[in-house]
Amino acid sequence: MKYAIIADIHGNLEAFQVVLEDIRAQKATHIVCLGDVVGYNANPKECLQIVRDLNIPVVKGNHDEYCSSENHLEGFNPHAAEAVIWTRNQLSTDDKQWLCDLKYSRMAANFTMVHATLDAPERWGYVFDKLAAAASFPYQNTQMCFFGHTHVPVAFMRDTVVRGGTYSKFKVDSSKKYFINVGAVGQPRDNNPKAAYVIYDMDAQTIELRRLDYDIEAAQKKILAAGLPERLAERLAYGR
Ligand code: ZN
Repeated sequence: MKYAIIADIHGNLEAFQVVLEDIRAQKATHIVCLGDVVGYNANPKECLQIVRDLNIPVVKGNHDEYCSSENHLEGFNPHAAEAVIWTRNQLSTDDKQWLCDLKYSRMAANFTMVHATLDAPERWGYVFDKLAAAASFPYQNTQMCFFGHTHVPVAFMRDTVVRGGTYSKFKVDSSKKYFINVGAVGQPRDNNPKAAYVIYDMDAQTIELRRLDYDIEAAQKKILAAGLPERLAERLAYGR
């Protein structure tokens, strides 16, 4: 079995389509999604429809939660909040209910899926370093867990201590636990603008980070045409 693990699509249809083509080319047998299907970019409804039609395991992201509710947006930066309000107006009641019903974490095959952290998934903490990863590991009952939220692909592993770093492809060591960020499809923030996702080959026991060029300009034009903040278009070109 070959799993494609995608996260943080954020309504970026151009990036999502290129990722889906690559998933087919890589002959992945399954797809799972770690949340934040919507928010930031100009095609939340189209991206959500594709995810719903795929009929795959999905967990809830903070943007999925905020875009499907009327919650106050105090914790959000102003550009993100503006995009949330815009996205709420694009989604149907049925779309919102579907997002609202997603769970914070769940299992697929032999691994765990979560958007933010396992210790308190509904608090949307950010795992950038070993310390934050160390807080999540005690709640991880599977060897492997995949997460998103930071939009920065990094892999943490634990044996006696927690280690972490960037990765491109590696073989899984059965004596270790892994907490792996798969990067973002629709708004990368690791200074690399290419769309990111992971292929987990369960037979070969390998994890591979895929990076793909897509039509950034087309996505930017749509963001501006929709009246969303300019900064959201600009950042796609820099991957931050
Ligand atoms: Zn996100």
